[in-house]
Amino acid sequence: MADRIALSLVIPVLNEQESLSLFLNRARPAVQSALALIGPDARAEYLFVDDGSSDRTRDILAILARMNADVRYVALSRNFGKEAALAAGISRARGDAVIPIDVDLQDPPEVIEAMVRLWLGGAQVVNARRIDRSSDSRFKRWSAHVFYRILNRLADYPIPENVGDFRLLDRQAVDAVKQLSEQARFNKGLFSWVGFRVATVDYEREAREAGQTKWRLRKLWGLALDGVTSSTTMPLRIWSYLGGLIAMLAFGYAVALVVKTLVTGADTPGYASIMVAVLMLGGLNLMSLGIIGEYLGRVAQEVRNRPLYVVAEDVGADESAAVAVP
Ligand code: UDP
Ligand code: MG
Repeated sequence: MADRIALSLVIPVLNEQESLSLFLNRARPAVQSALALIGPDARAEYLFVDDGSSDRTRDILAILARMNADVRYVALSRNFGKEAALAAGISRARGDAVIPIDVDLQDPPEVIEAMVRLWLGGAQVVNARRIDRSSDSRFKRWSAHVFYRILNRLADYPIPENVGDFRLLDRQAVDAVKQLSEQARFNKGLFSWVGFRVATVDYEREAREAGQTKWRLRKLWGLALDGVTSSTTMPLRIWSYLGGLIAMLAFGYAVALVVKTLVTGADTPGYASIMVAVLMLGGLNLMSLGIIGEYLGRVAQEVRNRPLYVVAEDVGADESAAVAVP
């Protein structure tokens, strides 16, 4: 009887040669006890996505896939970013439930058992919420907090704070996520957007096990912009309201000026008020143009409609013969 793949762990990796074995060693027992809850014939697959690593990550993945029937990997042709790498993995995952997880063990695999328990209890999406992020830098925690405050004020649907990509998605939720074809990907937003019955488990975020964080400030800023523009339309609408308000104030001021000129006669002074009005309106104009530009740039990106990522190699999809498929 063919075993069924109950759980797919999708693990994006970028230059993580030190972490791969550490990850498998710790994830295996945790996943085993989660599988035991599901049933005797339940199996798991470990689907790594090599996001264009330049170290020995891909060689090590090739060895791991050859030695372990439950390890597969997809290698992207260059670095496409974690969001695209996750999309590549999620679209190839075969399990009844899919769990995106970081390789650096900051998402503790032991949480998977609690996730599976909630899934078996009927939840279709199980979020993992970090209750302690003391392992992340103070700046990262602060900026993340501010970002989620702003995002949730603006977003058309709630995106839970302190929930990363680490979560469990059942087949129905995965298929829904796969239908979302957008280029500027912000997975946390997509996962929330699809809805379904959601449950939450809490965990403590640990320190990175090996290697270094791959997120630079600029990349995080880019992700934040993607997050806002892909989940909101509010920033675009602000300008109509603000414009309306300013136009009304200007009209009132114009009436007052006309009345004053009629009553007291024309006087030349007024440099300060003109400068203030010109600078303020100029600034507001540029800001609104910038915001429209952020959205427009993404519209252009969508219209080009390029694939999200390019696959260089897909290994282990057919476990009877782990051969490279071009
Ligand atoms: N990652 C990736 N592509 C990237 C950046 C990161 O696949 O362009 C992977 C990385 O290998 C790790 C996960 O995404 O498995 C999370 O990255 P990291 O731990 O560096 O981020 P942090 O935990 O510092 O936010
Ligand atoms: Mg990390």
